[in-house]
Amino acid sequence: MTSASAQDRLAAVHAEVVRRNPAEPEFHQAAREVLETLAPVLAARPEVAEAALVERIVEPERQVLFRVPWQDDRGRTHVNRGFRVEFNSALGPYKGGLRFHPTVNLGIVKFLGFEQIFKNALTGLGIGGGKGGSDFDPHGRSDAEVMRFCQSFMTELYRHIGDRTDVPAGDIGVGGREIGYLFGQYRRITNRWEAGVLTGKGVGWGGSNARTEATGYGNVLFTAEMLRQRGEDLEGQQAVVSGSGNVAIYTVEKLHQLGARALTVSDSSGYVVDDKGIDLELLKQIKEVERGRVEDYAKRRGTSATFVPGGSVWDVPADLALPSATQNELGAEAARSLVRNGVKAVSEGANMPVTPDAVRVLREAGVAFGPGKAANAGGVAVSALEMRQNSGRDVWSKERVESELATVMQDIHHTCWETAERYGAPGDYVTGANIAGFERVADAMLAQGLV
Ligand code: GLU
Repeated sequence: MTSASAQDRLAAVHAEVVRRNPAEPEFHQAAREVLETLAPVLAARPEVAEAALVERIVEPERQVLFRVPWQDDRGRTHVNRGFRVEFNSALGPYKGGLRFHPTVNLGIVKFLGFEQIFKNALTGLGIGGGKGGSDFDPHGRSDAEVMRFCQSFMTELYRHIGDRTDVPAGDIGVGGREIGYLFGQYRRITNRWEAGVLTGKGVGWGGSNARTEATGYGNVLFTAEMLRQRGEDLEGQQAVVSGSGNVAIYTVEKLHQLGARALTVSDSSGYVVDDKGIDLELLKQIKEVERGRVEDYAKRRGTSATFVPGGSVWDVPADLALPSATQNELGAEAARSLVRNGVKAVSEGANMPVTPDAVRVLREAGVAFGPGKAANAGGVAVSALEMRQNSGRDVWSKERVESELATVMQDIHHTCWETAERYGAPGDYVTGANIAGFERVADAMLAQGLV
């Protein structure tokens, strides 16, 4: 197939995605970002086109939607919607997090599930792609309310998951507390102590050391690899980090461990800039213990920190930018501001935080850009290691997990770099990640026939 006809074919696939999945702009965007880079594969490998692998990969294998009724502490009834999109299981059981946030809808879950296929393939750890969640908002809810919600959610979800079928984990709004309640209900309903059905469990009852830290740590390790490729390292670099959840906190921690300085964190009300570097103990106390806001951090930190209500964290000058909040949080204008301030590398801790326009601005300015599928794969990689420990009824030390994580992140960087070169796009990690992830899944699908 010529390159031009490959491009036409991919454009037709995208048009069909849009037609068949109306009102799902984030899924259209995630699909476009991948399809745009696959023309060289289609042109070079006729069997990929013949087996309609691209047409098949954009269609989830199974989608589950369900009602989640629950009662709040005052006895009022609420009805939320639950989702689990089981996208692709060619490489292993469906694997991916659950997101509890008011913005969750089918299109959001599908964009996340679609990215997860390629991300999980890049880890090389034998996991398929899926994602789920609910439009439930845990913010301001009591522990008892969150527990009742999780129990109701699992009362439907349990019949669709299993350690060899589909293994959910956390994402925005789903952390250790929620995984605990979900696991408890699964165990009660099924009467099975099936550790590997969920990951992100507590370390004392089947969880993996370093799972909590893994996404943030992994993104910093990936950034270090991108810098190394340019003959630099993290020592002395200043970084802007957005978000203040699990990914942001452990991004800050690893930056500091490796001699860089994180200047910012943010939430939906604004951002904090701290000239001395973010004080991790204070941040953890406010976010993990008190479930508070970043404004409280600025109030308690003293003169080095300022809270900027509603501003753009990307206006803070820095060498590195690590968006770790949510999708489409860094647009073209923000990218131009980063470039003006001399940013060297941008790496996605969150899923799809940088818009396609912004990616273009960064690429044209020669900034190293680490796409989430590669850069934030550390979280799901350690989830796969948690599954491995669960299968062997084993517990690995934090040192062992961290060392395996470092190897996985280096391998992913190498794979993306090498694939981009091989397909004539040197230094383009987006192309490298998409093609390498796609080829692994496509090869497995080809071998397994039309299923
Ligand atoms: N939600 C995380 C992600 O976006 C982790 C998923 C998992 O551990 O299964 O990759």
